[in-house]
Amino acid sequence: MEELSVDVCIIGSGPAGQKAAIQAAKLGKKVVVLEKAPQPGGQCLYSGTIPSKSLREAIIDLTRFNERGFYNQEFEPHEVTFADLNKRLSKVIEEERSMVFRQFKKNGIRLIEGTARFENPHMLIVMDPDYRLLFQIKSKNFIIATGSNPRNPNNIAFDNDVILDSTRLLGLTTLPKSMLVLGGGIIGSEYASFFAALGVEVTIIDKREHLLPMLDSEIGIHLQTALTDIGLRFIGRKEPEEILRVGDRAHVRFKDGTTLEADTLLYALGRVANVASLHIENTGISLNDKGYIPVNELFQTIATHIYAVGDVIGGPCLASTSMEQGRLAALHACDAQTHHFPDFYPIGIYTIPEISSCGYTEDQLKEMGFRYEVGRAYYYEIARSHIVGSNVGMFKILFHAETLELLGIHVIGRGATEVIHIGQIAKSFNAKIDYFIDQVFNYPTYAEGYRVAALNGYNKIKHKFL
Ligand SMILES: Cc1cc2nc3c(=O)[nH]c(=O)nc-3n(C[C@H](O)[C@H](O)[C@H](O)COP(=O)(O)OP(=O)(O)OC[C@H]3O[C@@H](n4cnc5c(N)ncnc54)[C@H](O)[C@@H]3O)c2cc1C
Repeated sequence: MEELSVDVCIIGSGPAGQKAAIQAAKLGKKVVVLEKAPQPGGQCLYSGTIPSKSLREAIIDLTRFNERGFYNQEFEPHEVTFADLNKRLSKVIEEERSMVFRQFKKNGIRLIEGTARFENPHMLIVMDPDYRLLFQIKSKNFIIATGSNPRNPNNIAFDNDVILDSTRLLGLTTLPKSMLVLGGGIIGSEYASFFAALGVEVTIIDKREHLLPMLDSEIGIHLQTALTDIGLRFIGRKEPEEILRVGDRAHVRFKDGTTLEADTLLYALGRVANVASLHIENTGISLNDKGYIPVNELFQTIATHIYAVGDVIGGPCLASTSMEQGRLAALHACDAQTHHFPDFYPIGIYTIPEISSCGYTEDQLKEMGFRYEVGRAYYYEIARSHIVGSNVGMFKILFHAETLELLGIHVIGRGATEVIHIGQIAKSFNAKIDYFIDQVFNYPTYAEGYRVAALNGYNKIKHKFL
């Protein structure tokens, strides 16, 4: 057993832990990262963001999804195999993993493989999978970045080919003919659209009336139409009562007495904080009623030298936000200048078509009584869309009808998760809607949608108020 004493001890090597470690190391601190998995990178790299987004890209390419409309090519389901898809997945994971190693090495960060467990608020131990004690680590500060796992109720018999969660789904070796997806949140909707694009008969079921209810409702309607067009079926206001494997099929009995069955089922009804092995009670920290670690605005727990960041503290549970939380926590722990996490940040949803938004939705503005106006640009108005052969999508910009300040930006369609950052940056500089009108945009681009939407919105109020 080795004894260590460091400045910052980080538990978990996902996006939150990585960015915290790099930041602390850049400030000249002695940093260790503890990781219980055999390789660093977190759920993000092996079962979350990276594999799902690589799979999406592979599906779009191999099914010639973006060319179908243009060349009228028919796609034969089952033409693409899991071996084809996994080839890309493995390559991306390998490249990303070596990037993590490279960054740790470059910044002098020590990576220790083993499971961390607090003994008291100032010391933890690290064990191997056979509970052999490997290290005893004392640190001035700890940053907990242990992430989350799929929420899998005990009464459901998960397996590796029929009843799946988002991690097990990545182990599929053959393409099912039909799939039920329980949960119309981000993970459920993304995977449902991927499999629908592959030609699988997909039904998403949710107890709520709409998919992704946090979306601006107009964007939500646009999405629902686009998904129906690729054959995906959505059933709302339905809750599962019993989920069973019968032979080689998944059967679901719902609370309303109806049943559905399919070759495969993806259970995507939430995630839980990964705190099981931490023995967090030894630090005096208690979990909140949802099982997450409570923190203040600086990501400090009740024990102020112990920080928590990423999925383990609950929403928004994105790799993008987790990274920034990790960096901010490290800055504060190392007494460097820091700031609060931004109020407005983009959310990227990689359904097919993709969606991204930043700022208020129209429903929120209505509820708050804002005097707002809307500028819209549909993809069929943008030359770039005609060139690439996809007219599905829209820009929606919400702005204050009197001050003209940007209030919300919502984009659905190809390039949405990239172009959102133009609106995000403009908004962060308190730009007004006419800012987009007075700029020259590259032509033909998707980004030009900002100008078209701004003109649309501005022309509506010009006559009314200006
Ligand atoms: C299917 C799916 C798709 C997603 N897509 C996106 C997306 O497109 N964009 C986006 O921004 N986000 C996406 N996310 C969310 C994103 O993956 C998570 O928000 C992100 O991984 C959280 O990072 P983290 O560092 O908090 O935790 P993780 O990435 O989960 O890493 C935590 C690490 O801590 C380790 N650990 C846990 N306990 C211990 C312990 N006691 N000792 C040592 N190590 C420990 C774990 O082994 C793990 O490696 C997706 C998630 C899923 C599931």
